[in-house]
Amino acid sequence: MSRIADDVVLIDTLLGGEEGITAAFLVAGENPALVDPGAETSADTTAAALEARGVGADDLAWIVLTHIHLDHCGATGDLAARFPRAKIVVHPRGVRHLIEPARLVTGTAAVHGPALAPLYGGLDPVPEHRIVQAPDDHRVVVGPGRELQMVETPGHARHHHSIFVEYAGLVIAGDAAGARMPGSGQHPVLPPPETDVDAARASVTRLAALGPEKVAVSHFGLLDDPEEDLARADEQIATIAEAARRSAADGADPDARAIADEMQRTLPLEETVGDPEMIARWRRLEWRDHCALGLETWLSRTR
Ligand SMILES: [Zn+2]
Repeated sequence: MSRIADDVVLIDTLLGGEEGITAAFLVAGENPALVDPGAETSADTTAAALEARGVGADDLAWIVLTHIHLDHCGATGDLAARFPRAKIVVHPRGVRHLIEPARLVTGTAAVHGPALAPLYGGLDPVPEHRIVQAPDDHRVVVGPGRELQMVETPGHARHHHSIFVEYAGLVIAGDAAGARMPGSGQHPVLPPPETDVDAARASVTRLAALGPEKVAVSHFGLLDDPEEDLARADEQIATIAEAARRSAADGADPDARAIADEMQRTLPLEETVGDPEMIARWRRLEWRDHCALGLETWLSRTR
């Protein structure tokens, strides 16, 4: 656990037992909020971290979700049961998946395949009366004069919010500003099935316009320089989208393998992620393949 801003602590959810992959965030206050509890397989880790910060079973007021991908939200049902007062705040498009997670879980397993799916686990259903639908600009009150602003930032997924903790000068960007794991460089995360390049770029621009002093990404932690790093995120999305277009320039159907090859020629992982150990992690988690698949679905939809 580490403090990243006034009254905001980063919790390492230790995905698959490894440090530095997926973060949760605890925003302290009269009504404490947990942003993104992590995967179902991380439920014990996240619950223990809350307990260690003095947040007991009846204390947690909010579980706020950036989006309903399982590495961010899988532990929600489990934690909703352990923290019975907490309301679950989610984008309107995410509500039905929390109530009836079967389709989301099956769809995710299909993308991850049998080897990787158990790493994330599933998602226990969340009782409907616990859910708060949060459209753009919805506010979550954590204390007197202290609000979290939900900032709709689609592109990575249509149900994606970033969270602006204005009083702390912090944006929790979820996956909207890409990933940057410790000791490595940035890379966009554009998975299937909802990747939308134009929306993703507009979302990065929107985050920059908030003028945050700090930006934290779910994978993993604070970026170095909000202005510079958000500009880079936008540029990288544009670059790999262009590579994807080029891979199908001869009129061929978009193909994830061809997109992945062209991405590697244009923007090699060695240049973006950089660190060999982290490149190995990107490959092991198949995140680059997911980007290629995401761009394939985007190209098929838009060309
Ligand atoms: Zn995601």
